[in-house]
Amino acid sequence: MNPTDITYWNREAETPPREQLERQQLESLRQTVETALKTPFYRRRLEKCGLADGSDIAALEDLKRIPFTTKDDLREAYPDQLLAVPLDEVVRLHTSSGTTGTPTVIYHTQQDIDAWTELTCRGVVATGASHRDVFQNMMSYGLFTGGLGLHYAAEKIGMTVIPSASGNTRRQMKLMKDFRTTAIHATPSYILHIHAKLEEEGFRPEDFHLQRAFIGAEAHSESTRQKIEELFNMRAFNSYGMSEMNGPGVAFECVCQEDMHLWEDAYHMEVIDPESRHSLPDGEIGELVMTTLQRGATPLLRYRTGDLTSINGSPCACGRTHRRIARIKGRADDMMIINGVNIYPSTIEAVIMTVPEVGTNYQICIDKDGALDQLTVKTEIYSKLFNGDIRSLEQLKRRIQNRLKTEVVISPVIELHEPGSLPVYEGKAVRVFDNRPKE
Ligand code: AMP
Ligand code: ZN
Repeated sequence: MNPTDITYWNREAETPPREQLERQQLESLRQTVETALKTPFYRRRLEKCGLADGSDIAALEDLKRIPFTTKDDLREAYPDQLLAVPLDEVVRLHTSSGTTGTPTVIYHTQQDIDAWTELTCRGVVATGASHRDVFQNMMSYGLFTGGLGLHYAAEKIGMTVIPSASGNTRRQMKLMKDFRTTAIHATPSYILHIHAKLEEEGFRPEDFHLQRAFIGAEAHSESTRQKIEELFNMRAFNSYGMSEMNGPGVAFECVCQEDMHLWEDAYHMEVIDPESRHSLPDGEIGELVMTTLQRGATPLLRYRTGDLTSINGSPCACGRTHRRIARIKGRADDMMIINGVNIYPSTIEAVIMTVPEVGTNYQICIDKDGALDQLTVKTEIYSKLFNGDIRSLEQLKRRIQNRLKTEVVISPVIELHEPGSLPVYEGKAVRVFDNRPKE
C-alpha cells in the first residue's frame, strides 16, 4: 500500500496513543454511567449492583460489575424506559428493523446525531473516499438506519449524494451510468443482484465508473467481497453497525481491507463466550458486547450484540490506533444444527462463492427427511451454463457438493437455478429457510 493512499477525516481522533484513548474511555464511561442513572431502566439495575454515581467506576474493569443488557431488555424498556433526556431534547428516533415482537427504540439528541455522523465520516474517508466522489446511497431511508446514517456523513464530507435508497434496480443502474457514480452503499446481496440483472436491463459493467462500495448490514464472506470486487472492478469495504449502536459507522475497513476499525472513543468493546459469558482474549471468536461512551439520549451498557467476531489488537499499517474486529462470522443465534453438526450459513456462503460458475444469489433450506435433517443449497448459476448440456450441470452439482462436504462434513442436495430466479430482498437478504417442524 502506498502511504499517500492513507487519508484521515480526523487524524488526531483516529490515531491517539493507546493510553490516551483508554484514559478517555474511562472518563466517558463514568459520564455514561451518570447518564444511564437518569433512565428508569438503568437506575433500578445500577443501584442493585451498588453503582450510585459515575465516580464509583475506578477503572475500565469495573464495567464488569454491570450486568449485560440484552435485546429482550430493550424490548422490555420500550418505549421510554431507556430515555435519559427530556423528550424535547430528542431530535430523532430509530426503531429496530425486527419483523416480529415488540420493537426496540433508540433516541438521539442533536449531539448524538453529530457524533454519529463524525464516526461515519471517519469510516468513509478511511476507505479513500473523498468530496470528489459521486455517492449513490442504495440503503433504505427511514426507521432503518442504513440510509440516513451514511447520508449525513457523505454530505458532510462534501460528496455528491444521490439518495436513491433501496430497490428499483433499473433506475439504480441508470443513475449510476448517467451521473458517473463512483461510490455506492448497499447490502452485498443487493450489489450481486444488480449484477445478475445487468444484461436483462440492457447495461454492461463497463457502463459504470465505480471505484468503491461500502457493503454491510448483513453477514457476508471474504469470497463474496472478492466476487463483488471482480464483477464491478472496484474495491468493496466492509461496514459494520446496528441500530442499537446508532447504525452504520460503528466499525469500518480502512484501505488495508483487513478487519474493521471499531471507534473506541465512542464504544467500549468486549468479546465473550456466548455460553459461559466469560470474556475472551483478543483473537478468539465470541459474541461482541458493546457499551456506548458518547451517547446522551439512550446510553447502553454492555449490550450483547449477538454478532460473532474477534478482536484484532495488532497495529494497522494505516496508523489508526483503534482496534479492529474481524469480519462478522454470523450471529450467535444463526447457527444451524443439522444432524448434530453445527454449521453457520456464512461457512456455506464462503464455499459456494469460490466456485466460478456460481452466480450471485443462493438459499439454504433445511427439511426433515424421516428422522434425518436434509440440507438443500439452491444457487443461481450463470445463464450460459443452461445450454442443454445436462452432464456438465450434473458435474457442477457434484463439484459444489464435494467442496461443501469437505468443509461442513455433511452432504447437501444442490439445486441449480437460473440468474434472477431466487427471491431478492430490498433490505437484508433472507438466506436460511428452516422448514423442520418445531419441537
Ligand atoms: P440493524 O440494527 O437492523 O441495522 O441490524 C444490525 C445487524 O446487522 C448487526 O447486529 C449484524 O448482525 C448485521 N450487520 C450489520 N453490518 C454487518 C456487516 N458488515 N457484516 C455482518 N453483519 C452485519
Ligand atoms: Zn487500518
